[in-house]
Amino acid sequence: MEQRKQSGTAQRSSVRLPLLTIVLVAFFATGTGGRPDGAAWDRAYDVVLFNLPYLAAAGACFAAAVRVRSERVAWSSLGLSLTLSAIGNALRVLAAGVDGNGPSSPLADLFALAGYLVMYLAVIVMIRARVPRFHPSMWLDGIIGALGSLSAGVAFVLGPYLYPGPGQQAVGLIELVGPITDVLLLAVLMAVGSILGVRLDRTFLMLAAGLCFVCASDIALFALKVQDRYVDGGPLELGWLACVVLAATAAAGARNRPAPVDRSGGSRIGWRLLAVPLVCIVASLSVLGAGWTHPMPAVSAWLAIACVLAGIARIAVTFREVRGFNQVKEESRTDELTGLANRRALLEQAQRIVASASASRPAALLLLDLDGFKEVNDSLGHGAGDDLLRQVGPRLRNALRSEDVLARLGGDEFAVLLPGTGGVEAQALAERLRELLLQPFTVAEVRLHVGVSIGISTTPAPATTVEELLHSADVAMYTAKRARGGVHIHVPDPVTGVAGGGRLRTMEELRTALTDDQLVVFMQPQMGLRDGDVVGAEALVRWHHPTRGLLPPADLLPAAEQAGLLRPLTDTVIELSLAAAARWWPDHQVPVSVNLSAANVTDLDLPDKVAASLRRHGLPARALTLELVEDTLMADPDRGRSVLADLRRLGVRTSIDDYGTGYSSLAYLRHLPADELKLDRTLTADVDRDPRAAAIVEHTVALAHSLGLSLVAEGVETAATSAVLARLGCDVAQGYAIAHPMPLDDFLGWLVAADSALLDETLLPLLSRGGDPA
Ligand code: C2E
Ligand code: MG
Ligand code: MG
Repeated sequence: MEQRKQSGTAQRSSVRLPLLTIVLVAFFATGTGGRPDGAAWDRAYDVVLFNLPYLAAAGACFAAAVRVRSERVAWSSLGLSLTLSAIGNALRVLAAGVDGNGPSSPLADLFALAGYLVMYLAVIVMIRARVPRFHPSMWLDGIIGALGSLSAGVAFVLGPYLYPGPGQQAVGLIELVGPITDVLLLAVLMAVGSILGVRLDRTFLMLAAGLCFVCASDIALFALKVQDRYVDGGPLELGWLACVVLAATAAAGARNRPAPVDRSGGSRIGWRLLAVPLVCIVASLSVLGAGWTHPMPAVSAWLAIACVLAGIARIAVTFREVRGFNQVKEESRTDELTGLANRRALLEQAQRIVASASASRPAALLLLDLDGFKEVNDSLGHGAGDDLLRQVGPRLRNALRSEDVLARLGGDEFAVLLPGTGGVEAQALAERLRELLLQPFTVAEVRLHVGVSIGISTTPAPATTVEELLHSADVAMYTAKRARGGVHIHVPDPVTGVAGGGRLRTMEELRTALTDDQLVVFMQPQMGLRDGDVVGAEALVRWHHPTRGLLPPADLLPAAEQAGLLRPLTDTVIELSLAAAARWWPDHQVPVSVNLSAANVTDLDLPDKVAASLRRHGLPARALTLELVEDTLMADPDRGRSVLADLRRLGVRTSIDDYGTGYSSLAYLRHLPADELKLDRTLTADVDRDPRAAAIVEHTVALAHSLGLSLVAEGVETAATSAVLARLGCDVAQGYAIAHPMPLDDFLGWLVAADSALLDETLLPLLSRGGDPA
């Protein structure tokens, strides 16, 4: 980049000096800056000096042809045109003499004419490189430009010679060849200008300006000659030299790949595109106006009329193009099968709505996924499936407002975007839509029932961008799907309060954490309340986050759930815990407890994975206890029970965690195969002060024992609580009073210390012997 900049600067300074020289010489030579007298000087100037810049510019053009591959023909033609003109100039001076009074040379005229023709070619080829594809409207613009400028040229440049005013002499058409070539050149330039539009293409602007100088100088020269007022070597010659300088500068600055003309989209109807054709139409109208009062060649009037007609055709074509453009745009935003909006249209609308959403005017997105659609497709065929999808839209539409956007995202997935709608209303609407879809459909003369899972997310909170809105609605939809249909609303994580973007990032980082060994387990010992023995250790997951430090489960479990990572997370924790247990098992046969989540209890592979992990670490099944909270089983009780039964068959112990916080039901306990009941902290915390709490614990202990379950008291923070719990019959205690959860190495040390009774001083007061219930 830097290099290119430097080479560009070098290139510019290498052309600046010669150009400056040419300009100075031109000023001096043309008499503008003082021209020496004498025939010898005149000849040297007219034949050599005047043509030298032409040849230098031709050289620059040929160099550009070598450098710029895409415009080789254009630059070579321009170089050739300048060379032909220089030869024509020299021949003319040689034949007519320096004072220009000698005979005119047909050969010189031929060269000059050839120079012009090749110049047209150069201009036309140059535009081909810039316009890869011509639309009908571009042709029309070119035609308007050509006709309008021709009409004005014929009327105002040639007209005065063909229809001279009183006292002036008419000039024959043959003698007008020079001005005619100029009018044609102007027409070509205007045609090109109409096609390109007014745009900053430096190369082309310089060339066009140069050619305009040539035309103006030619026309002025012709006028002076007709009036016999021409003096050789005057300032007029600066016009041609200016063209040569501009052509050389353009050639020196020419670069590969000129930016192609973009006439699509927004710039399509812009003034830049219409400026030149409009000017040409106005010029035609002025020709027609002037024709009323002044005699004028009939052809200029016809050209003007043709230009105006082309302008009218252009309007018609524009109208058609705009209509076609709108139609394509509409089609690209519509779902072909259902005629509803498609994903693109939804995203466009979502972008707008999210940008204008505020706390006082939130918006919601519902993602709907049909349950059982695949079965319809498989059993009744794709035609029936399509038919079903087509019936969904009209059914939902009835329940929506006109400003709500209903879209089909693909397959059997639909979306509803609800501007001005908060979470509560969105949830109510989702329930209504669900009811509508649960009504039977008639497809291929069969009455069908399909289910639907609906995920909801809202903006500006928790989602702040369209991506977050879509993603969180998607996560919510999958949660709903896992729960076998229904509606799920995505809510921000209440514990961490992590905002949408942060939570999404956490979910992504968690994937890395799982593969990069960033997860560890802390161990918290459990102590038998009868004898003070260490009877277990609970493994509690922690995340060594690369930037946020050590994170507790509360900061990672919700993200893991939303990202659908609970299964791999538990697999990792089981693996880590058994690896840890394998280190202490030979000396201390203390089982390790691992927490399961709902996603694990429905994982039919879990028993196999557990068995394999136990084998890998050389541990018996009783070395592992799996904890689950009561409502874990609610999503799919049958499947959960069967997974738990398989685990117990292996010999793994199971434990009901946080007992007393969920919908604890005795019937439920009767059917749940378990070995242990863990009393939640909320039930155990006050036992030493609140007799009612003590009574609940006492009865729960009795119930657990009668069901053959051992009872663990959680969250034991003080010696006093511990003592009361022991007296009430609790078997095991776990809590800060015994030890905080600790890293594995610390725990191994703690175990050794506990074994050698080094801890007796702290642990013994916890037992019933050391405490007083009052
Ligand atoms: P939990 O299974 O009930 O684990 C006990 C929680 O109580 C732990 O919090 C522990 O640090 C805390 N605790 C222990 N003793 C005391 C005490 O005396 N007082 C108080 N106030 N708290 C005490 P932690 O480690 O933050 O874990 C919170 C919850 O996260 C756990 O509750 C468990 O449900 C879940 N969890 C932990 N690790 C895992 C895991 O690997 N997988 C799954 N699915 N859940 C896990
Ligand atoms: Mg637990
Ligand atoms: Mg617990």
